[in-house]
Amino acid sequence: MTRVFREDLESSFGTRAVHAGQRPDETTGAIMSPIYQTSTYVQEGLGRHKGFEYARTRNPTRDALERNVAALEGAEHGFAFASGLAATDAVLKLLSAGDHAICGENVYGGTHRIMTQVFERLGLRFTFVDTRDVATVEAALTASTRMIFVETPTNPMMHLTDLAAVGALATDRSLLLVVDNTFATPVLQLPIELGAEIVVHSTTKYLNGHSDMVGGMVLTTRDDVADQLGFLQNAVGAVPGPMDCWLALRGTKTLHLRMARHDASGRRIAQWLSQRSDIQRVYYPGLPDHPQHELACRQMRGFGGMISVELGSPARARAMVEQTRIFALAESLGGVESLIGHPASMTHASVPQPMREAMGLTDGLVRLSAGVEDPDDLIADLDQALAVANRV
Ligand SMILES: *Cc1c(COP(=O)(O)O)cnc(C)c1O
Repeated sequence: MTRVFREDLESSFGTRAVHAGQRPDETTGAIMSPIYQTSTYVQEGLGRHKGFEYARTRNPTRDALERNVAALEGAEHGFAFASGLAATDAVLKLLSAGDHAICGENVYGGTHRIMTQVFERLGLRFTFVDTRDVATVEAALTASTRMIFVETPTNPMMHLTDLAAVGALATDRSLLLVVDNTFATPVLQLPIELGAEIVVHSTTKYLNGHSDMVGGMVLTTRDDVADQLGFLQNAVGAVPGPMDCWLALRGTKTLHLRMARHDASGRRIAQWLSQRSDIQRVYYPGLPDHPQHELACRQMRGFGGMISVELGSPARARAMVEQTRIFALAESLGGVESLIGHPASMTHASVPQPMREAMGLTDGLVRLSAGVEDPDDLIADLDQALAVANRV
């Protein structure tokens, strides 16, 4: 188990991003945490070692990343995994056959898939509800409910969950509230401060931010949950290699700077899009006409770089995603480079069409991940792509 250094929880966010969890290397003074590319550690005698026995259990590069992200989320403990879904897998293994969990209906497709196609087969039960309304969450509670799992804002519809309200509901009934904070990151939203006990991340996205590794994290404040997670991390073994931990740690050092730019560009682009007559609808929590804008202002410190737009027809959506030159057509999000995607045929293709339509995820919807390029260039790129889409 990796516990944060106490003093790291006391500094301000940017200082924590750069330094938390890391100390200059004792043997050389190297300022960057070395990549400990090793599977095992030599012991001085039977049972006498430096706390490291085998690299599935512990690795110093991984320790540094775990402490760093835990400090950013205001958590006591961090656990790194080989992917965001491996992190979710570990969280779901806190439950046992017969247990019930309530999950947001608009969560990441892979989260829906691991729940319904892996864990339901093993005896867990899930109810998927619209978590925008806390009363809907409450109505789904059963005697065997043990966990509430939410994402906010959701992908790609930008629905928000009131974390303080759902947190209070979970606390009253001793349920675990798990928040996938991949979209907002701890720069824009701190779920633990609002009542969550567990935070999950796909470090693949904003935390690493450079589109060059796949990874996941679980953070928690609870010592008992941390004991179980540490056990699962070692017993199941879905751990990341030291090189990927090092890359993610390189990424988190600039998280606050990158998020400030993603947020500033996201606001500008969303505003620009919302004034165009050729866009039917813009989904962005920072726009005053977003139905949950007030909640976004209350529980987030910014709105980020993810924007969805309704173009009205699949042909126009296709023309737009195929015409952008800076926005690259690709799955994923949260990197320094801007990406564009068509959720209905890409990230959300596995969601049945009627369910997609019911939540507004139409074939005319396009999702943007604003990177850190010059926002004027990004707007010019969207402008020329929309000009082509308008000829369809
Ligand atoms: C990408 C993503 C995941 C899954 O993470 P991987 O690293 O791809 O396994 C989970 N949740 C959200 C919100 C994501 O965007």
